[in-house]
Amino acid sequence: MPETSSHPLPLPLAPADATESPEAATLPILLVPDPRLRSKTRAVGPGDAAMVRALAPQMLEAMYKAPGIGLAAPQVGTLLRLVVVDLQKNDKPDPLVLVNPEIMAASKELATREEGCLSLPGQFAEVTRPARVKLRYLDLSGAKREIEAEGLLATCLQHELDHLDGVLFVDHISALKRNMLLRKLAKDLKAKVRD
Ligand SMILES: [Zn+2]
Repeated sequence: MPETSSHPLPLPLAPADATESPEAATLPILLVPDPRLRSKTRAVGPGDAAMVRALAPQMLEAMYKAPGIGLAAPQVGTLLRLVVVDLQKNDKPDPLVLVNPEIMAASKELATREEGCLSLPGQFAEVTRPARVKLRYLDLSGAKREIEAEGLLATCLQHELDHLDGVLFVDHISALKRNMLLRKLAKDLKAKVRD
């Protein structure tokens, strides 16, 4: 994620029949309580370059298909520091791939926004985080980049970076709310299996 219920985004790119051919099979997104979502990740190194260049577009595809606006590598079972986001400027794809992202600075000012997560489908909660963040990361060519984000992008990036440390958005809300939400998720997923 975060997918946000209040900000529905159009489903872009992938043709409707993309799932029909086996070679185009979309990466499955892991759901809570998969332990990989709670695992630490390691930095992408030079030896990972080819794998990461192949994985990033697959992650974007899985994210678009879900649909969501951000996805972190642990959500597809890869314990590396890699994140993709796309907030779709003007309804057009605007993918951003962040390798080894790090928050360099965060504003004292906070912002509260409703968050969801592709690993906790259908569950939403208001989360308070710094309103603006400055990040550094590497792009897919290995070049050093910086980005200053505010608004939904700031929320999204912080949410995705949390995933790299095994942290989920529900860790930012009260234990009472968290337990309610996780129970509801378990119930929803069980109902889905029965369907
Ligand atoms: Zn998430």
